[in-house]
Amino acid sequence: MSPAGSGALVLVATPIGNLGDLSARATQELSTAGIIACEDTRRTGRLLSLAGIGRRPLLRLDDHTETARAAEVVARIERGERVVLVSDAGMPAISDPGERLVHAVAAAGLAIEVVPGPSAVVTALAGSGLPTRRFCFEGFLPRRPGERAARLAALADEPRTMVFYESPHRLAATLTDLAAAFGADRPVVVARELTKLHEQWWRGPAAAAAAWATEESPRGELVIVAEGAPPAPQLTAADLEVAVAAGLARGGSVKEVAAEVAAANGVSRREVYALAVRLAGAARRPAGAPVEVSGEDGHR
Ligand code: SAM
Repeated sequence: MSPAGSGALVLVATPIGNLGDLSARATQELSTAGIIACEDTRRTGRLLSLAGIGRRPLLRLDDHTETARAAEVVARIERGERVVLVSDAGMPAISDPGERLVHAVAAAGLAIEVVPGPSAVVTALAGSGLPTRRFCFEGFLPRRPGERAARLAALADEPRTMVFYESPHRLAATLTDLAAAFGADRPVVVARELTKLHEQWWRGPAAAAAAWATEESPRGELVIVAEGAPPAPQLTAADLEVAVAAGLARGGSVKEVAAEVAAANGVSRREVYALAVRLAGAARRPAGAPVEVSGEDGHR
């Protein structure tokens, strides 16, 4: 936290549906801010009123005004003000305005603080039951069907769990594209209306998720969580032998083929070299002759 009396930009997370999730620290910052930069002054005014904070000075900062407002916010912080930034719901700067403002404040060498709290991405991931150790957040997919399908195709081999924001109008089409790109059986979770009265978690294979969404047309706010691609099948000794034999048949030297096959398959060069020596020797040796084993440098 910044020293008392010094200016800072303070990002404050606000509830994604349940007012009870507004933290004590968030309430304190909102109550004492010099000014609150917000996406929609009416929505933030309503939040302040519901939280019993009352009226505070508000500055509209949305996607269209963010760049223009950055200089004003920087000047206020330089004068020692604490400028609070909120979005309509959740964590500002996460699929919401804020990223450009934070960049400008950081570039000016001024203090930035974050009051953490609700965010749909982490809430959906944590409750998904899918692997959480490593994940990637893709935000909203492109709206145009061709671009969306291309983005999903590019993610088909992504091994980490993926989190997507989606609008209810596009849910069925997106899940259909996802099943086509990732495979019908890829485990998927749709987290709907998180923290609200009608919170729902749909869990199952991608093709069944697409069928469910097409039939039910679920409404409200939604997050899609998709399991990452399964690991590529392990290379067997026979696969390695085929690759080395093919390299030698193309006329490569033992050393060249060993280096090439080892790099292409992520295996040790020493291991492949020994295999290449054996196969090259077998190709030259008359049937039944003894096999000579040597190290990579040609010595025993
Ligand atoms: N900044 C927000 C955050 O930290 O989660 C995200 C804002 S983004 C404009 C809105 C999207 O977040 C929605 O379209 C939906 O995908 C997701 N979302 C927000 N609230 C949600 C909720 N209560 N349940 C499910 N998804 C939600």
